[in-house]
Formats: sequence, structure tokens, C-alpha cells
Amino acid sequence: MPEGPSVRKFHHLVSPFVGQQVVKTGGSSKKLHPPDLQSLWLQDTQVHGKKLFLRFDPDEELRLRGNDPLPEPLRKGAQEVEAADQEQAVGPSRQTASDKSSQAAALAVPPGDEGPKCLGADCLTPGAERWLQVSFGLFGSIWVNEFSRAKKANKRGDWRDPAPRLVLYFGGGGFLAFYNCQMSWSSSPVVRPTSDILSEKFHRGQALEALGQAQPVCYTLLDQRYFSGLGNIIKNEVLYRAGVHPLSLGSLLSPSCLEALVDHVVEFSTHWLQDKLQGRQQHPQIYQKEQCPAGHQVLKQELGPPGGFQRLTWWCPQCQPRLPAEGPEQHQRA
Ligand SMILES: [Zn+2]
Repeated sequence: MPEGPSVRKFHHLVSPFVGQQVVKTGGSSKKLHPPDLQSLWLQDTQVHGKKLFLRFDPDEELRLRGNDPLPEPLRKGAQEVEAADQEQAVGPSRQTASDKSSQAAALAVPPGDEGPKCLGADCLTPGAERWLQVSFGLFGSIWVNEFSRAKKANKRGDWRDPAPRLVLYFGGGGFLAFYNCQMSWSSSPVVRPTSDILSEKFHRGQALEALGQAQPVCYTLLDQRYFSGLGNIIKNEVLYRAGVHPLSLGSLLSPSCLEALVDHVVEFSTHWLQDKLQGRQQHPQIYQKEQCPAGHQVLKQELGPPGGFQRLTWWCPQCQPRLPAEGPEQHQRA
């Protein structure tokens, strides 16, 4: 499952399409029914942890609100590009807002009504489900202006390209293809920046308090309520870097050790995101390794809360010694 840095990168890829209209759809999703997105406008995108949210508004409500996503000259430019490229100009002819009606609608909005409640289309249709929530599976991804291709033959020897769940072709001529993800509609994006490890608003105090619980830190780190976006790779890497045994009870670790762990979470995730945005490969030190960078033999075991999801965990018994009961300062690397 893509972790926070990957989903942030997807958000980065989707953002340039905000303000554009869906002119054609495709994809195999049965639950979502891709044609329903036809002629909607992508109005916003937000990311929280491992989830991506896309807001779509219908054409007619934009005209009612007089809240066109693009200034008219830009919109016209986009239409010209689309018309010039017949291969990309797909789908039924677009309905465009007439200048007069949208201006009239804009003028009709009293200035006093511009409070937060009435900025969105939700004030016109309360509770409308405008946000498409995208959760990615193990091989989930988003491709821009190209499709994912088969990297190897399947069991029968066929080279079958993966089937996108959803494809959105936009008025500007580009398209987005969504693979291996679950999608559902909701009335608002569930975004809590204070628990998002890649948000500027990530709340360290809250994270430290959660980590200090009397349970193995490797369970707490994967708890999306406190470390949204943190997945198994980040978990393994930060525990190694902080020299903490995965099964150490948070309550037995010193405050400075917990601080170091949170520092590593933020630092590692941020660097990973930067690497992704710049097209660089990430080089784990412990995840899926047989030896740690110091040359010690690495141990591997499935760990998780009783009755909960067990995740493969790699650690170095020398660099990350098991905390003895007598003192909390034994977490330092040997
Ligand atoms: Zn080691």
C-alpha cells in the first residue's frame, strides 16, 4: 500500500487538473460507475495520510454560483486547445456556460452571503457527496497522460496491461488513470492535518503522547489516528534509525528517545517525498534487508497487535537491542 509520501506525490500529479472539466471517462470500477463523472469539474484535491480526496462539482451549479473555476479567457484557451487536437477532443459536445448567465449569477450573490458555509456548492444541496475518496491498494498508483504497462507476463504467459479502475480525460487534453484503488463518495474530505506526518500542522505533542503508551511502539507507529500516512516501510526505517527495538513498550522509552523517534518519522518521510518528487529511488537501510548497514544479521518477523494486522518487521538485534526492564536508556545503538 502506498505510504504517505507516495500519496502526496499522487496529489502533486492530480493538482494541475484542478479547474478542468471531465470530458470523457473510462475504467473498470463497477462500484463507482465512471460515466457518472462525465462533465463534472474537478474543483479541489486534498491529501490526508494515505488517502486522496477529489472534489467534483456539476456544470450547472457552477453556473448558478457564477463561480467558474477558470477566468473566461483561460477557459476559452482550453477549448481552443481541445478543438485543435481532434484525437483528444472526445466525448459529447461540451455545454459551456454563457457569459451573460454566469455574470448575472455572480452579480446575484449578495456580498453578505459569502461566509464559509455558502462558499461551497453544499449550500445549494446540503449533504451532497462531492468528494471522491481514493484509497490505494498494494499496487495502487495514478498515471498521468499514459497508461501503466505490463512489466512481466502473467501465469498463462500473457502480457496483459493492468486495467485502470478509473480514467478521467480532461478538457485541457490530458488524462489521469487510477490503478488498484478503492473509491467512494463522501460529503466532506476527512482531513486531520495534526495527525498527518507530512503536514506542516503535524502535532508532535499528540504523537509523543500516543507513542508513550504501554504498548509496542511498532504497533503505535502504524496507528493512522496518530501517524496518518505512516506505513510499514517508514515504520521499519525509523525504528532502525532511532535504534529502538520494534517491541519496545513506549512507556519504557525515555522522553528523548520518543522525541528522536518522532524526529525520524518526520525527517525520513519528508526526504522520501522529496526523492519521489525528484524521481530518485529510495534506499532503505533495514526494510527487506538481510544485513544492517553495520553488517549485522537482520531479524524478520510478523508483528502486530493481538487479533490485529500482522506486518513483516525487520530489525537488527545489535543496533536495536530489546529494552531490558531495569533501565529505559538502553535504546542507544550499540
Ligand atoms: Zn546492526
